[in-house]
Amino acid sequence: MNNSNPSNQALTHEAIRNFVPAEQCLDGKTILVTGAGDGIGRVAALTYARYGATVLLLGRTVSKLEAVYDEIESMGGKQPAVLPMDLEKASYAEMQQLEGLIVKEVGQLDGILHNAGLLGALTPLEMYDVDIFAKVMHVNTTATFMLTQALLPLLKDAAHGSIVFTTSTVGTHPRAFWGAYALSKQAVEGMSDIFTQETRNTTNLRFNCINPGGTRSNMRAHAFPGEDPMTLKTPEEIMAGYVCLMTDASIDVRGQVVALQPKH
Ligand code: NAP
Repeated sequence: MNNSNPSNQALTHEAIRNFVPAEQCLDGKTILVTGAGDGIGRVAALTYARYGATVLLLGRTVSKLEAVYDEIESMGGKQPAVLPMDLEKASYAEMQQLEGLIVKEVGQLDGILHNAGLLGALTPLEMYDVDIFAKVMHVNTTATFMLTQALLPLLKDAAHGSIVFTTSTVGTHPRAFWGAYALSKQAVEGMSDIFTQETRNTTNLRFNCINPGGTRSNMRAHAFPGEDPMTLKTPEEIMAGYVCLMTDASIDVRGQVVALQPKH
């Protein structure tokens, strides 16, 4: 169990999964969460706020983001910000404008959790609808790249900027019928690796991927309609790793794909 990393050794994946956050361990940090209105992203946003971060809530359904905003306010967290953005439609220019907005409103950006994602169709590639394919690739991969690149100047200004991408077991090991979803997550893992190689010697930035593993959410229910959701971990139960990768305990963790529920 870790709540700090005084030895400055890169944490093991086991240590990241079992991280015990200290109170206010994210105090002074500003973290943007995409898909912050529902599922894992909603809980990550609440959890980051609980540990002292200022959270920027990005998503496409404003009413859901406002509900998360209210929850953070009512628990006494730092005032968050709602950033309405549909990643399927947003232009690169709109993403660049976010930079100016963040500077004006909060002055800094220390981390991004790229959590928003689309499942798309579960069908053989031979029959995969090309429009759905393009949409899933865009939201899960291309928009993730665009937003990262647009906000990179701000992240570089942070003492230890942390970019966390979200992958899946089928991104690490592509599986039949998972189509664009698996391919988009495989590309995200590659993007994290390339960003790591390109920035490792010149910046303090770190890029890592989290694979949450089977977690109770709407997406999981769509993917596995016959599954009893009560057999799955809740987003709350997997938050240790999400917090760890945003704290300074993980500043030496770079280019990793951390599975939060590894199969043994
Ligand atoms: P979820 O409940 O479906 O939540 C997905 C979130 O992404 C929602 O807030 C959704 O917004 C947002 N989103 C979707 N399309 C968007 C768009 N075009 N623009 C902006 N936001 C958009 O799914 P989840 O299970 O929490 O998944 C979170 C992440 O974990 C995803 O990247 C997923 O691939 C990954 N993951 C999940 C599991 C699992 O078992 N749950 C396993 C492996 C990986 P709306 O609420 O407005 O729709």
